[in-house]
Amino acid sequence: MAVRPDKHDLSSLGDHSLAVHGGNAIDAGSGAIRTPLIMANSYALPEDPSQISWSTTDSALYTRNSGANQLALQDKLAALEGGEAAVALASGVAALHGVFFTFLSTGDHAVIADVTYEASWRLFAELLPQKYGIEATFVDASDPEAVRAAIRPNTKLVHIEAIGNPTTKVTDVVAVAEIAHAGGALLSVDSTFTPPPFYRPLRDGADLVVHSLTKYINGHGDAMGGAVIGSRELIDRIKADAMVDVGGVISPFNAWIINRGSITLPLRMAHHLASAPKVAAFLEQDPRVAFVAYPGLESHPQHDLAVRQFGGRGFGAMMAFAVDGDPDTQNRFVANLKVITSAVSLGHDESLIVHVGTDGPRVRYYPEQFRRLGHLRFSIGLEDPDDLIADLSAALDATFA
Ligand SMILES: *Cc1c(COP(=O)(O)O)cnc(C)c1O
Repeated sequence: MAVRPDKHDLSSLGDHSLAVHGGNAIDAGSGAIRTPLIMANSYALPEDPSQISWSTTDSALYTRNSGANQLALQDKLAALEGGEAAVALASGVAALHGVFFTFLSTGDHAVIADVTYEASWRLFAELLPQKYGIEATFVDASDPEAVRAAIRPNTKLVHIEAIGNPTTKVTDVVAVAEIAHAGGALLSVDSTFTPPPFYRPLRDGADLVVHSLTKYINGHGDAMGGAVIGSRELIDRIKADAMVDVGGVISPFNAWIINRGSITLPLRMAHHLASAPKVAAFLEQDPRVAFVAYPGLESHPQHDLAVRQFGGRGFGAMMAFAVDGDPDTQNRFVANLKVITSAVSLGHDESLIVHVGTDGPRVRYYPEQFRRLGHLRFSIGLEDPDDLIADLSAALDATFA
């Protein structure tokens, strides 16, 4: 069995140090000072393997139970989020499904924010009710009383996003955690838009934090992954049920490259968080822009909550806006951009924009302008903010010439 040497005591380290040293250790085999990429399906067993728990072990045995690079990544993610344990899976959706599959059974009820990532919506609107008989109520989670009113005796899970994809609706995690716990339910927070050290939902009472590692944590647009962070007890259940027996494991290569990308997460977040308000302010003052949704703007409906909840560290680097005009105008505007790339995903080094229309079952939950005009979901990358503003400005000029 691969035994890893003692790791640094991380508890006293700052954010940047955690990102460097979390999950890293001198490799016992080679002496390498960072965890090497180990492309192996199986690891040597101890002399007497008969007592091993095949589902919950933290030792590398078989890569569907855990591998060396997955273990290293999990240690780092737990350290970064301030949780006891983490499980890394193949994608953000595998992580979301891992939470829902593990903690909900037939006859259980869940309360879900009405603005979430598309897959969370569809899982609770269609797949989990139809396949497993799990009930769900969609609520405006920015109103804690709406969450309270939706709780039932059989509610086992409340699932929200700290900043909702795509409308940037902000939910009060402290308030919703209290309500969930009073009702005997777990709170899971998809924190993909709000990665550490910007925000740590576990400190505000969340039981489980979900990340698409594909986004900010890897940050370079070259690997997919997902993770759940929380108490060892809850994470062990996800490993036992959803990882080992559903099997959406992360590949060693993706775990390794995401671990590498995450070293600069605090540095990158600082730049994202500093740039986004400048870009949002530019968009909001331009009369050719119909609306801008960004929690850092005073016009945002939950701006005060965002100031309080994110402690002045920033407001994220995701926004939604539309230019004044029909879908053709939105498309022409995007086609006129030269620095900002039209593609899905977010949290990459490069700025990404995607035109989302007014069709689809979730749109009825969006604010009025989103329903009328559609929106451009915009991920502010690591370019110079002045270059992004110049690109947006030139594209507006070209579109409205
Ligand atoms: C992208 C995303 C996901 C899904 O992650 P994948 O890695 O694409 O599976 C989940 N939640 C949010 C908020 C996301 O933006």
